[in-house]
Amino acid sequence: MTRILVAGGLGFIGSHLVERLLRREDVAECVVVDNLWTGSWRNLAHVEDSRLQILVEDVERVCLAGKFDEIYHLASPASPPWYMAQPLRTISANVVGALRLLDVLAPGGQMAYTSTSEVYGEPLVSPQPESYRGFVDCTGPRASYDESKRCVEAMLFEAHRAQGVRIKVVRLFNVFGPRTRVDDGRAVSNFVTQALRGRPITVFGDGAQTRSWGYIDDIIKGLERYFWADGVDYPGPLNIGNDREIPVLEVAEFIQRRFPKCPIVHLPAPPQDPTNRRPDLSLANRVLPGWTSLVPYEEGVERTIAWFRREMRPGAAAKRPLVANASAKAIGQNLRLV
Ligand code: UDP
Repeated sequence: MTRILVAGGLGFIGSHLVERLLRREDVAECVVVDNLWTGSWRNLAHVEDSRLQILVEDVERVCLAGKFDEIYHLASPASPPWYMAQPLRTISANVVGALRLLDVLAPGGQMAYTSTSEVYGEPLVSPQPESYRGFVDCTGPRASYDESKRCVEAMLFEAHRAQGVRIKVVRLFNVFGPRTRVDDGRAVSNFVTQALRGRPITVFGDGAQTRSWGYIDDIIKGLERYFWADGVDYPGPLNIGNDREIPVLEVAEFIQRRFPKCPIVHLPAPPQDPTNRRPDLSLANRVLPGWTSLVPYEEGVERTIAWFRREMRPGAAAKRPLVANASAKAIGQNLRLV
């Protein structure tokens, strides 16, 4: 039977992954470590499964008994305003967190890491294949995120080379969908929550910069297949995303058409905002034959609007208890504070 640890399991992507992991019959125990920095216990509050344990603690400091057969490291903010607000904490969660997690990996176990398209920085080639080494400013405003993700990739590939540790590294491209925080600050969630509040939709710069928007259900399916379901024996790095590249302004206009009373306003672009990003999925097509994004961004945005509409209903949050920090009282049968 398999013992699993998910760091960041109360987050947007982590909580979807935990739900998929709990579908497996070989899983004896699934321990989630999350400090509720950007995650929310509400993301798993509906899950009733005696195999799930939630520890509200920093991944760098958590005390864990025994070793784990599979570890998934997703403990990091992913939204620029969040990681820029606490850059050293971001580096610590990724880098110190990864070192801590390697300590509790069972011999022969597998360590999986969600890296990012940000390792390509301001890409000078498009689409970006995994072999592209990127163009990142190690002293720039995005460095805490970009460089800590790059450092953990380096750490895991060295552990793989030097000690034979089994690793799986994915690079995710602009994932969006239900369970993003209302105050997350990334483009799709910002546009949707602004529109639902009847406020202007904020496009940074002229909006000609592009991203490749991946809907959460498609991305999780790719992660599930790569991390465990297909029995893949390939360490990565592997691009996972939707390769349909769309300008930011087009997404804003799509949402604005649904909320005609909300104007689009242009604000100054953040420094070093990448101008383009699109995954080369040739490798993913070989490693995960048949896997592809099925949900176009238009459909994904509609589903995200429906989800945020429910989430932002007056009283919706109050109906479910919140745990604000690790010293708060444990709520929920599966929640254990350390
Ligand atoms: N963006 C925007 N308005 C917002 C939030 C983001 O125009 O309210 C832009 C941002 O400048 C970037 C793109 O949308 O060019 C994607 O930003 P996001 O924060 O979602 O992710 P990133 O790819 O920058 O990590």
